[in-house]
Amino acid sequence: MTTTTETRKFEAEVAQVLHLVTHSLYSHKEIFLRELISNASDACDKLRFEAIGKPELLTGDGGFHIDIAIDKQARTLTIRDNGIGMSRDEVVANIGTIASSGTRKFLEAMSSEQKSDANLIGQFGVGFYSAFVVADKVSLVTRKAGTEAGEGVRWESDGTGEYSLSGADKVERGTAVTLHLKADEDEFLQPWQVRSLVARYSDHIGFPIRMLKESDGDEKAEKPAEEWEVVNQASALWTRPKSELIDADYQNFYKHIAHDFNDALAWTHNRVEGTQNFTSLLYLPSKSPFDMLMGARDERKGLKLYVKRVFIMDAAEQLLPAYLRFVRGVVDSDDLPLNVSREILQQNRNLEKLRAACTRRVLDLLDKLAKDEPEKFATFWKEFGTTFKEGAAEDFANKERIAKLLRFASTKSEGAVQAVSLDDYIGRMVPSQDAIYYLTADGYAAAAGSPQLEALKAHGVEVLLMYERIDDWMTSYLTEYAGKKLRNVAKGDLDLDKLGGVDAEKRKEAEKAAEGVVKKLKELLGERVRDVRVSARLTDSPSVLVLDEHDMGLAMQRLLKQAGHDVPASKPILEINPANVLVKRLESETNEARAQDLGLLLLDQAQLLEGVALDDPAAYVRRVNALLAHT
Ligand code: ADP
Ligand code: MG
Repeated sequence: MTTTTETRKFEAEVAQVLHLVTHSLYSHKEIFLRELISNASDACDKLRFEAIGKPELLTGDGGFHIDIAIDKQARTLTIRDNGIGMSRDEVVANIGTIASSGTRKFLEAMSSEQKSDANLIGQFGVGFYSAFVVADKVSLVTRKAGTEAGEGVRWESDGTGEYSLSGADKVERGTAVTLHLKADEDEFLQPWQVRSLVARYSDHIGFPIRMLKESDGDEKAEKPAEEWEVVNQASALWTRPKSELIDADYQNFYKHIAHDFNDALAWTHNRVEGTQNFTSLLYLPSKSPFDMLMGARDERKGLKLYVKRVFIMDAAEQLLPAYLRFVRGVVDSDDLPLNVSREILQQNRNLEKLRAACTRRVLDLLDKLAKDEPEKFATFWKEFGTTFKEGAAEDFANKERIAKLLRFASTKSEGAVQAVSLDDYIGRMVPSQDAIYYLTADGYAAAAGSPQLEALKAHGVEVLLMYERIDDWMTSYLTEYAGKKLRNVAKGDLDLDKLGGVDAEKRKEAEKAAEGVVKKLKELLGERVRDVRVSARLTDSPSVLVLDEHDMGLAMQRLLKQAGHDVPASKPILEINPANVLVKRLESETNEARAQDLGLLLLDQAQLLEGVALDDPAAYVRRVNALLAHT
């Protein structure tokens, strides 16, 4: 074999990550041990899976284990596993580069201030590099399962800019990572300290973690043969009875599987026995991971499928619907075949049931939070509410349950906080009210300030304020809740008479009195609008645009147009408030040009308020200025 050593430079991004990690993780430096053990455990998981089809990979094997060895003289700490190992190319790809494009984007997007935030860093799995927080040199010796003893690889780096690669002889299967500890990191040479870290962070790892048994201190006694002892529970956490587990166990396990440095918000751990046998342990994170914001709907990680304790694959798409893509955890089935592939999985009938059961568990958990831990539920909503809303449109079977969990801002709540449930709303409806009113807009301010709300406010009727992109789409599916219709206040006839307080006679009179100005406006605006009519919606503002019951919302029309779709132009209806001074002025204006300006202004303003960009903004400004100059 060759013994030549090759020196390579880290990718620029790796160097950047290394710098970040070593400078910002210092206050949590002991987590390197958790990360390296986590990698060792992943490596054992991978080999156990591979060996299902190729049992020869495990020949001569006494079972998987992860060993931690301390050499006080050499000042090293070694973490060794007999897992899958890596080929030379894999070492280069996995350790020398940053494979995940998400990480790359993340680095680019982070501001320099954020770059020192350990929690953010934790979100993109910098696992291996955390070794450099405590070590000034790290060497990794590895041999891939199924290759010859002489095909080992040695990787070494001081964590600055370069690493070296060479061949290694007589290497056992798996990977050994040796940390040459920095001068002031002696604590990690103390076996009791390392044991307590294993107990704290890695107790839940499903493989035995072993350390050498400590001698009883009798120097003269003949040195006993080295004896390894297991220092963790070594049973998969989700297989242990709930009564044995404390919160810290669950949290540590969460960090291991979710690659998150933050605590989980909540979890649900269940064993189901019956026609299907499975265990699920599902977590809600407390923070939205970075790539969720990047809209990674397809690339989902963090929900792991096990079959009879054997890790099979990351299978979030198969196990939960997209609107629950923030959930992390494990599902361990006794019924699926061990050699299940993604393709087989898709056709498996058990899977559908598994998926429905997991979905139900998550919804149960959310119900419980909403009821018993409103603060946690609020956190959930803040982080994942927008994603969760997709469910109201997509998950027909659970529509009512999902709707019950939705939270909105409303005309009766403070600011942009989304905390009003549909049940809260119904509980506050005015006596003769039979619909749930909502308004969609481009932003909170546009919603809260919309003239569409004037008359409803005057009647004391609450309106839900929806201002996220997804809302128009969601409400086109969510049209009813608890027997009450959801009504967009900008659409159709509001039926305010029914709510009481409006004198139908008086309204007729007002309409009659306004016939002249309505006719005038219709002539002025011509083809631009479908109709002009007197508004029941307005109390102060001069004009507002409304749509027919079944028209597509204006924001939705705009979205589709931007996405290059052909949208049938639905012309809006202009409603006016005859009591408003501008409308009165138009009524009495005899100068034709000025009347024209005023008429167009009423339409343009109503458009602006709906967040519709004007076709000719310059003309609008000219008209406003002309009118201002005239007074
Ligand atoms: P992550 O574990 O999130 O993928 P790490 O930085 O911890 O990120 O590890 C990077 C990659 O290096 C792993 O995905 C894996 O492919 C490889 N690796 C690390 N440690 C080991 C190991 N002990 N055995 C085999 N492969 C490993
Ligand atoms: Mg890792």
